[in-house]
Amino acid sequence: MMNKKFDVVIVGTGAAGLFCALSLPQDKKILCISKDALDGSDSFLAQGGICMLRDDNDYASYFEDTMRAGHYENRKESVEIMIKSSQQIIHDLEGYGVEFEKENGEFVFTKEGAHSDNRILFHADVTGREITGKLLARAQERENITLMDYTTMVDWVCKDNVCYGIVVADEDGKTEAIEADVTVLACGGLGGVYKHSTNYRHISGDALALALYHNVRLENCDYVQIHPTTLYTKQSGRSFLISESVRGEGAVLRDKNGERFTDELQPRDVVSNAIFAKMKEQGTEHVWLDFSPIPKEEILSHFPNIYKHCTEAGFNPLETWVPVVPAQHYFMGGIYVDKDSKTTMEQLYAIGETSCNGVHGRNRLASNSLLESLVFAKRAAADIMTVSEYKKAADFDNLVNLEDYADLHGIMEKYHAMVVQEIKEEARLRSLKEEAI
Ligand SMILES: Cc1cc2nc3c(=O)[nH]c(=O)nc-3n(C[C@H](O)[C@H](O)[C@H](O)COP(=O)(O)OP(=O)(O)OC[C@H]3O[C@@H](n4cnc5c(N)ncnc54)[C@H](O)[C@@H]3O)c2cc1C
Repeated sequence: MMNKKFDVVIVGTGAAGLFCALSLPQDKKILCISKDALDGSDSFLAQGGICMLRDDNDYASYFEDTMRAGHYENRKESVEIMIKSSQQIIHDLEGYGVEFEKENGEFVFTKEGAHSDNRILFHADVTGREITGKLLARAQERENITLMDYTTMVDWVCKDNVCYGIVVADEDGKTEAIEADVTVLACGGLGGVYKHSTNYRHISGDALALALYHNVRLENCDYVQIHPTTLYTKQSGRSFLISESVRGEGAVLRDKNGERFTDELQPRDVVSNAIFAKMKEQGTEHVWLDFSPIPKEEILSHFPNIYKHCTEAGFNPLETWVPVVPAQHYFMGGIYVDKDSKTTMEQLYAIGETSCNGVHGRNRLASNSLLESLVFAKRAAADIMTVSEYKKAADFDNLVNLEDYADLHGIMEKYHAMVVQEIKEEARLRSLKEEAI
């Protein structure tokens, strides 16, 4: 299948995985794998944008907005690191060829729910594709980075709480063990285990199941964000997101009688709850999003992808209200990591949505996740380089019995069930705890 030994193996080719790979020195032999196509990641779907600290005067307000959205359960140290690193990260992205909206050479900033100021950089309504597509192109140019699509991590190779690599399966179900000094989990969220989600179906929390299985610490697995506005449809499959910046630019929510019923720019959980309550009260399956307060030219230039998608679904936002419903969108919890993205297992890092470094607390502030993914991916790369000699397994081949993975389908189903069970159990325990207070 492949040369089996790498310095670093990175599981996931979204923004986090690719940025980590590019942040490592070019003399490191790196393997990046994706369960799906290399561009089949949620990072490619990001519409709204990426936050950046505009200047020192905005620091306190950006910090407070992030904490308030997270119900003040955020790890303050992580929030501080993220905000203070944001300008350097945007500089790095521009170095990789990423383009953001500018006017007369200056960044244009937009706003989304729960932000008290405009501090979001964007590229039309396809910011994720612009960022991640450029990162992927740069990674493909690097001789030290091997990229493999349709390759699924099915297990870790570990012993005595040290990780020595992973077991992968190709599209035909052929399995193989890959040895690496360091393993980085960049597997995204868990939307694939939900019926209605904006995430790709294959992004289903596999790394979380492995963490449970191998006793690696998890945190806040019940902190799952529901996005207030996805296009309502009776069809199954991935839900199409209508970015929060549409509301940031003025769009309003209306009930079945055409009445506004909430402040559209509150944190996502608050707006989602208001929509659910209204749907229940009125016995409807959706509410409406009214784009009419946004100038026509703004809709066409800032939201061309959303305009096209809604129109194709039969709802031209320039002419009619668009039916919207909340859906699973983002995972604030994950594999517990420290400020350098280290998990509780040696030689194992976690970055991006799969990890929990505490930036988001109980609820993510819009457009903080791409930034958080990139900041802590770069920190992981820096931390990996601080160790000159990693532990090697004396008996690597004997640590794995590939016959254990014969029923791949059954294994993946079991992983999904474990993730669902963990979300429910953490939610149950938390509500007991909160009732007791
Ligand atoms: C529709 C949508 C819009 C969004 N808009 C924004 C926005 O405007 N701003 C913002 O900041 N954030 C936004 N987000 C959130 C943001 O895109 C994600 O949180 C972020 O991109 C996560 O990046 P990641 O690299 O951690 O994971 P992902 O980009 O999801 O990548 C996960 C990778 O892991 C791979 N993988 C998973 N399991 C396995 C396995 N078992 N074996 C091998 N590979 C595996 C996948 O194939 C994929 O390559 C949005 C998300 C969605 C879904």
